[in-house]
Amino acid sequence: MLGTKSYIAKSVESMQPSGIRKFFDLAAGMEGVISLGVGEPDFVTSWSAREAAILSLERGLTSYTANAGLLELREEVSGYMNNRFHVSYQPKEEIILTVGASQALDLALRAILDPGDEVVIVEPCFVSYAPLVELAGGKSVTVETTSDQQFKLQAAALEQAITSKTKALLLCSPNNPTGAQLDKKDLEEIAVIVKKYDLLVIADEIYAELAYDIPHTSIASLEGMRERTILINGFSKGFAMTGWRLGFICAPSELAAAMLKIHQYAMMCASTPAQYAALEALKTGMKDVEEMKKDYRRRRNYIVQSFNDMGLDCHTPGGAFYVFPSIRSTGLTSEQFAEELLKEQKVAVVPGSVFGNSGEGFIRCSYASSMEQLQEAVKRINCFINNR
Ligand code: PMP
Repeated sequence: MLGTKSYIAKSVESMQPSGIRKFFDLAAGMEGVISLGVGEPDFVTSWSAREAAILSLERGLTSYTANAGLLELREEVSGYMNNRFHVSYQPKEEIILTVGASQALDLALRAILDPGDEVVIVEPCFVSYAPLVELAGGKSVTVETTSDQQFKLQAAALEQAITSKTKALLLCSPNNPTGAQLDKKDLEEIAVIVKKYDLLVIADEIYAELAYDIPHTSIASLEGMRERTILINGFSKGFAMTGWRLGFICAPSELAAAMLKIHQYAMMCASTPAQYAALEALKTGMKDVEEMKKDYRRRRNYIVQSFNDMGLDCHTPGGAFYVFPSIRSTGLTSEQFAEELLKEQKVAVVPGSVFGNSGEGFIRCSYASSMEQLQEAVKRINCFINNR
């Protein structure tokens, strides 16, 4: 201890630890737990990508890359974004490789926020958003979505949250934790408001590859939106590369240059072997992505059906690998449900309340687990419900 004085910054002292962590820690101390709690693929990165990283190390490619990342990879990312999502970005001025989508979010917020600027976040949402906004000196303003609207942001609700201090909307589709996917029409309605109030959009599209029924639409592909969008994507989810820590930003050159200023001092560059792995994943790995997607889709259909059969209302989410069933019929809070389910049946899920107030009454279950595990989890949850 350094005495009575606190050396910790006030902005950090007031920060709450992630509610998801608590359940990981509880589950880690128990045997035989089936975890539907984690937000990462159960697949291993494709062999060709792993081999490319190994080969890069054998060739001695162990130095820093350019701050924005290997030019060859930025060129590949540019082609990929164009082919898959119909958005066009210049590899040299408009694409930055980052340490996961996580760092991309941090960079985007730090590059645009002055003290007191407001960012609209759409709850239930990824647990990092509000803390990252606050750390960047901004203020997060929440818009809630509801299960009646399939957890899709409504343009009218967005408009109500906007003040003279609003600088950006932070939007995630497909969504963590609800799996909600905004289609072109939803996005067009949101874009009207964004343009009317001259806002930026930070579009977290990390689950773009995991869209099961209709293809993902990027908000940046809509008329007049490219110039006001910071598009975030990466390799963690679709390419099963969470541990490599590689994401990327696509943004108009002026915004990209501002983010690169921070990146060059704070991070220098993303991991070099990870960049070689990602290059290969983009060149030859799309088949693997399609295979994983097929499997996720099958699991999604199974788990949605199972929850509804149990009497836990669950809409069919369009993307990501989460379902967000209602547990209101049990009379438990989402935290009680998750804690008691873990203790009684050793199944880990995440209480919806950790994703914001509008998540109360729901639990998040990830179906990035084998079908056998999902079947066993369903059996146990059924027991849990029936024993009440
Ligand atoms: N955004 C969302 C919505 C996420 O769910 C996650 C990971 N859980 C991230 C960003 C961060 O992804 P990465 O591993 O690329 O940092």
